[in-house]
Amino acid sequence: MLQIGAGGLGSPCSMYLVAAGIKELTIIDNDIVSLSNLQRQILYNETHIKKDKIEVAKEVLSKLNSEVKINAYKDYIDENSIKKYVKDHDFIVDCSDNMKTKFLVNRTIIKREIKGVIAGIKDFYGQIMTINPKKSACYQCVFPKPDKEAPKTLSTSPLPVIGVTPGILGTLEALEVIKTALNLPNLENNLLMVNLLDLSFTKIKIVKDKNCICSN
Ligand SMILES: [Zn+2]
Repeated sequence: MLQIGAGGLGSPCSMYLVAAGIKELTIIDNDIVSLSNLQRQILYNETHIKKDKIEVAKEVLSKLNSEVKINAYKDYIDENSIKKYVKDHDFIVDCSDNMKTKFLVNRTIIKREIKGVIAGIKDFYGQIMTINPKKSACYQCVFPKPDKEAPKTLSTSPLPVIGVTPGILGTLEALEVIKTALNLPNLENNLLMVNLLDLSFTKIKIVKDKNCICSN
């Protein structure tokens, strides 16, 4: 299992996967812990401020379940680096905080023909989908990639967030990973829209776009 990001989504996702006894988890993150992270990034506490997230994540997760092999790398994910990490993995869970990385993770899922879960959050809202590239619609079927003239929509800067929102969406990502691994019903060909203001969970059927990268 390759997990991109050890922040707000990545904290609960990795903790539940490791607690569940996943065999091996590889986590990539390039950031250090800061005070403003602690409201949502529950892998970390005040004593971890200024430390590399990846170093702390490995320590905390190893103590949670010593039988799980944790590989943790401090790196920035881009077109080149993801190739190196995706080798030897058959599943990616995207816990990044920006659209650019989510599109990159989606392209990697399609190219390598491996399964993946992608979630996104903003304020009180989140959405999550599971991709089985041979069978299901992909992230780009739902969110057509913004063109190059609109770089703002592909910003790499973190989206604003209420702490509990990534807690719930990251937990749902771990649930999707576990269910997909066990061949239980999952979110393939569905987008789950979570609205935490009115507490509604809406599942929308999505259809594979014949003109999308996943159909070529
Ligand atoms: Zn697609």
